Amino acid sequence: MDSAEPTELSDPAASAGGASSLPAPLPLVIARPPSERDLAAALPLTEKVRLLSGADSWRTHDCPLIGLRPMVTSDGPNGVRGVTKDERHPSACLPSPSALGATWDVDLVYRVAAALGAEARSKGVDVLLAPTVNLMRTPLGGRGFEFFAEDPVLTAGLASAYVRGVQSAGVGATVKHFVANDSETERWTYDARLSERVLREVYLLPFEACVREAGTWVVMAAYNKVNGTAMTENLRLLRDVLKNEWGFDGVVTSDWHAARSTHATALATLDLSMPGPDGPWGELLVRAVEQGIVSEDLLDDKVARLLRLARRVGALTEPAVQLVPDVRTGRAAREAANRPTKNGRAPALVGARLLREAAADSFVLLRNSGDALPLDQTHIRRLAIIGPNAQRPVIQGGGSAGVTPVSVAAPADALRAALPDHVEVNVSGGCQTWHTVPEAPPGSLTDPVTGTPGLHLEFTDAEGAVIGTEHRASANLAWWDGVPDEIGWGKPGRVVLTATFRPEDSGRHLLSVAGVGGLLLEVDGATVIDGTTAVPADPVEAMTRPGELRAARWLEAGTPTRLRVEFRPAPDGDGPLAVRLGIVRAIEDDDLLADAETLAAAADAAVVVVGSAELTESEGFDRPTLALPGRQDELIARVAAVNPTTIVVVNSGMPVLMPWAEQAAAVVYAWLPGQEFGTALADVLLGHAEPGGRLPVTIPADESSVPVLHAKPSDDGALDYTEGLLVGYRGYDAADIAPAFPFGHGTGYTTWDYESLDCARWLPDGGNLELSVRVRNTGSRPGKEVVQAYLAEPGDPVRRGRPIRALAAFAVVRAAPGESAQVTVTIPARSFARYDESLASWITPGGEFTVQVGPSSRDLPLTAAVRLTALSSARSGRA
Ligand code: BGC
Repeated sequence: MDSAEPTELSDPAASAGGASSLPAPLPLVIARPPSERDLAAALPLTEKVRLLSGADSWRTHDCPLIGLRPMVTSDGPNGVRGVTKDERHPSACLPSPSALGATWDVDLVYRVAAALGAEARSKGVDVLLAPTVNLMRTPLGGRGFEFFAEDPVLTAGLASAYVRGVQSAGVGATVKHFVANDSETERWTYDARLSERVLREVYLLPFEACVREAGTWVVMAAYNKVNGTAMTENLRLLRDVLKNEWGFDGVVTSDWHAARSTHATALATLDLSMPGPDGPWGELLVRAVEQGIVSEDLLDDKVARLLRLARRVGALTEPAVQLVPDVRTGRAAREAANRPTKNGRAPALVGARLLREAAADSFVLLRNSGDALPLDQTHIRRLAIIGPNAQRPVIQGGGSAGVTPVSVAAPADALRAALPDHVEVNVSGGCQTWHTVPEAPPGSLTDPVTGTPGLHLEFTDAEGAVIGTEHRASANLAWWDGVPDEIGWGKPGRVVLTATFRPEDSGRHLLSVAGVGGLLLEVDGATVIDGTTAVPADPVEAMTRPGELRAARWLEAGTPTRLRVEFRPAPDGDGPLAVRLGIVRAIEDDDLLADAETLAAAADAAVVVVGSAELTESEGFDRPTLALPGRQDELIARVAAVNPTTIVVVNSGMPVLMPWAEQAAAVVYAWLPGQEFGTALADVLLGHAEPGGRLPVTIPADESSVPVLHAKPSDDGALDYTEGLLVGYRGYDAADIAPAFPFGHGTGYTTWDYESLDCARWLPDGGNLELSVRVRNTGSRPGKEVVQAYLAEPGDPVRRGRPIRALAAFAVVRAAPGESAQVTVTIPARSFARYDESLASWITPGGEFTVQVGPSSRDLPLTAAVRLTALSSARSGRA
């Protein structure tokens, strides 16, 4: 069709004589191709409003009349789950963002994100709800594993690469949570109090980069308030800063259930209220427009943004020519989007090789005394692999980010497989750390109906009549949508699970059922649990840590034990539905610790894999302590005392205290590294790959020396960011506190000499400063180095509450032994600028700045002085 040809759109249902449930605004005549704004303006008011709330938990509405299909959103950031959490539709589980942050590698993050985008595309996902670009303001932040770093510049660089990567696959990235959602305690309501300068220079910076440099298509408005105004109602930050000043032309979606008013959110230019179909808009927003409270023009802008997103992701095509009546309800199109894969093909999962490379590249070698690593396989006859995370690693954090991984390479299994046959490997759990009773070991549950491993699931109505059955492999189940109508919060139906359990060992076992509502557990026909759990304040906890009821039973090895769980969802509340069955043999930690000690004493080397338990780090709550859970500190101390070659691997997404660090021969920080944890660890410990990471967050020596430890709002809900600009290492530097390991630290397997720094030139466009740095690999192995450039301001910055130095740029360089490499590092003009609140603009102070370059924030051997004349910017945003 000639694109300049005027086109008449008419309502086919009406012209076919069919009953139309829509008001009839059409026909209309518009130029083709119609702009998003034209299309928006052509729709009837009720239709516009309908489009602006979700159709269900994850989808937007369709509008076949203008060729709009539903758009499917899905959580990241460490994978793309799809619209269900279901072991039958697994996802690649990537290293969590704090691990990606530790790579400091923009190109690698781009590659990983591009592959993730392709996986999303292949699963029919249009919008990935990632990256999370909040900052690790406190090391206790429950969701810190989802953030890249404590530093805004490192976060901005990596997050931009992530956005570009995801969007290269035609999938929208969602930069979240805008803004100051840096901790979880009271996240729905707290009021972050921080100055405009701190907002601009620290917390907004990664968002700004993702909008201006990476061109993100979606931004998610957070739950919390900033300086008294809820972020979904924050006109100044959403409209004035994000849209007008930065030129954001995409969609601002609410965080899930974060839109809690009709007029204020609509007026603040929130564009999409998620999830749906309910929410504060709907009828109330129609009325607000009719009453003139919200202008229709404003509504058109929201719809136009949604359509622009649709066009970008390929969800807006030619107007549908063949409309069938039920298309009005959106059902036909929704069903199409419900298919797990396009055209029934297997999804294009992110490849294991890339995940393994990324994980190894994120591991930070904190300490390697006497070159304990890589392990010398020729001298090791017997290896002890110890620790709760050696066999049951924690590959990802809890909450909405969670995916069902395709597979999990446990460190113990992968190391055993990678070692030559002559090495005897002995494994011991060391101690227990679980918070909720773990799932039964794989293969120990049998579905009584199919006779295959797993459980039999029935959905029943209130009378117990079966209305649906499934075979499930997992005993940890959750649903947002897709359950029969009788099942749900406040509904009478039940979820019934049956399985036969075959214990490996005789002994006392702990059995548990978890879920929000009524829970029953029968063992061989006898009721052992019958109770009710409380409704949590934060809906995400219905999935991450629902109430758990426990019972103990003596079970005989090999004897089939019949289990039956009945779950009655709570009468009120909201959120996902989740139910879980746990079984574990009750063992004494004293016995495990003694066993580990014996194995370690008899081994040539001991690898101790410690870290978080499944629920230590999660969305929804902050950690109460930086200490490792359970008796892991004692475990390491006891192992190190009997084996001088003790290698400690820390499997935590955020900092933990390491009182034993000096006793260990080597310490590797492995984060929450995704499904290839074990294979990547074997690569690194055996020297096939280098631990390429550098700390994206300071690791403190103890809790009392952390500048910002807790993020507990005051009684009136205020969360004061009193440290101002001094987040992370900047706070340690300003107060002269020695951390256990500083920001940027990590040694790899080779050594580097920083030979020269040359402030090469000011780039003509915008005044960025190009540095040329020469480093030499002085060790005997090829290696990766992260060259870090910090900027120190003129004068006495600390007196003015400004950092002594701040990261300004970084670059990855690789070189062979003995080889030198020249690397170009560009300091953006913005790094020289500061936000002047009285001028509401960026200014660059005159004076002598010092560029400091080196391998960590506390080791900066190269310096150069840079003299600047004062500059101010008429356009705020550019120095
Ligand atoms: C989280 C978001 C997430 C959303 C949908 C919210 O609770 O804060 O990060 O994208 O749920 O799962």
